[in-house]
Amino acid sequence: MLLLVLGIVIVFFVLPIYSVIVTNEIRKRRRVEAALIRAKEDAERASKFKDRFLSTMSHELRTPLNAVMGFSDLLADKRYGELNERQQRYVSHINTGGRHLLKLINDILDLSKIEAGRLELSFGDLPVTAIFSEVVSSLRSLADKKAQTLSHSADPGLCVHADATRVRQVLMNLVGNAIKFTPEGGRIELEAQQAKLEVQVKIRDNGPGIPPEEQKRIFEAFYRLRKSGEGAEGTGLGLAITESLVKLQGGTLGLESEPGRGSCFHFNLPIAKAIREVRPRPVKVARKAVKTSKILIIEDDRLASHLLESQLTSSGYEVVSCDQPERALEMAADLQPQAITLDLLMKPTSGWEILLQLKHDPRTTSIPVIVVTIVDQPTTGAAIGADEYLVKPVDKKTLLAAVARCFEGREGSSPARPILVVEDDGPTREIVAELLRTNGYAVATAADGGSARAQVATSLPELVILDLVLPKLGGFELLAQWRSDPRTAELPIFVLTSKELTALEKTYLRENTQSLFHKQESWKDALLKQLQRAVGKPQAVKV
Ligand code: ADP
Repeated sequence: MLLLVLGIVIVFFVLPIYSVIVTNEIRKRRRVEAALIRAKEDAERASKFKDRFLSTMSHELRTPLNAVMGFSDLLADKRYGELNERQQRYVSHINTGGRHLLKLINDILDLSKIEAGRLELSFGDLPVTAIFSEVVSSLRSLADKKAQTLSHSADPGLCVHADATRVRQVLMNLVGNAIKFTPEGGRIELEAQQAKLEVQVKIRDNGPGIPPEEQKRIFEAFYRLRKSGEGAEGTGLGLAITESLVKLQGGTLGLESEPGRGSCFHFNLPIAKAIREVRPRPVKVARKAVKTSKILIIEDDRLASHLLESQLTSSGYEVVSCDQPERALEMAADLQPQAITLDLLMKPTSGWEILLQLKHDPRTTSIPVIVVTIVDQPTTGAAIGADEYLVKPVDKKTLLAAVARCFEGREGSSPARPILVVEDDGPTREIVAELLRTNGYAVATAADGGSARAQVATSLPELVILDLVLPKLGGFELLAQWRSDPRTAELPIFVLTSKELTALEKTYLRENTQSLFHKQESWKDALLKQLQRAVGKPQAVKV
């Protein structure tokens, strides 16, 4: 009886109530799930919008700014007549304002990329001395203007494992700040030392220093000390970006400072992998020569390297030796020598592999390579891209003649065919064309992809300077079409763009073009230099 009552209670009361509770619970869960999916979709939409906003903003803002700065530069150069004192002042205000805005835009974009976790780093082993020299030579003129001494020292052969562009950016910012905030006649020193498996880098100045209560806040975005920042240009974003960049590369940025006694910013980075495994063999820099032409010798046999070194230095060339073939590409990219001599039978990376790397990397593709080897295969060497091929033993006269031929090739006569500038933005097109013409090059222009394609189909230009964002037929599409046509497969192409590139796009460009220039960076001198390497220096410069 009891069981029967219990059964009735369960079937008619407990089960219905339980099923109502379960159904409600399921409904609630579904609602929560739906809300979660909606929130996820909203977040994805917002992130996509932010991405699109950032890439559009970078392009739309940088393009007109490029024109503002480019044309004010042309006016300041007085290429089209003298300016009176007031006009000069105004042009200089336009240029300074443009530079400030461009810095702000670049900083904001960098910071948002870092925050969104979208900053792509490419790590490699980098020689500290080479990076120090590069940063110091870029900032030397600023320090000279303030009669400041700018010096650097590092343990010989010291290398860090980091991203070259970002390490440079960190140093440029810290040394730039030191110059900016240290008064006239001050002293700025860069120093690097090995500390176990890390490299400690210090940037010391004898400027105004930073009060203890401000030392944390200066790393916040947009924070600037009113007193030290007075009159000095800046966005207050530099240190926030620098701190994140150091962190992303596995280090920490710190500061020691006493008001009135200067500041010392310091950071650590992992030491180069190669050095972790083997004791570093110092990079030998031979004595500075009368001629400034720098030649990189890639040779793992000490005797052979010594022989080449003495043959070249005795003729006034500056020589840097690399006896670790696995570091050759990075060294060549950092040093930018005027020529390279390359042995073929080396370990762990053979000379053939290095030659391929050198000729496929846009940073090194136009540096002439003289293969010096016992392997008698000049045809294969030429096919891979060797500019000269010498079979050992090589006497001094033969070597010097090959070097001279490489240099002549670059400084030969003006190219007969024009450089084709493909750029949809009128003012930018004019700036690039003007820059080339005033440097003696013949120029043709195209305002869109279709017209560029038609012009190249009619007659081949010497080289193309290609913008990537073009209406209808875009730069990438054009590039793909040219590369798949045997007639244009080898056409030299430089890309000049303000587009934010993905890792995939960068790889594609590295494989299919000779050089890449970003409009947001100072590209003019670099472009002219590369152009001279690629097609030679024009003889008559028409102004
Ligand atoms: P910005 O240089 O654009 O002002 P930063 O973020 O690079 O921005 O620097 C923030 C502030 O920290 C600067 O405005 C300045 O007041 C202070 N500061 C940075 N470096 C130094 C330095 N070497 N000496 C004195 N003050 C400095």
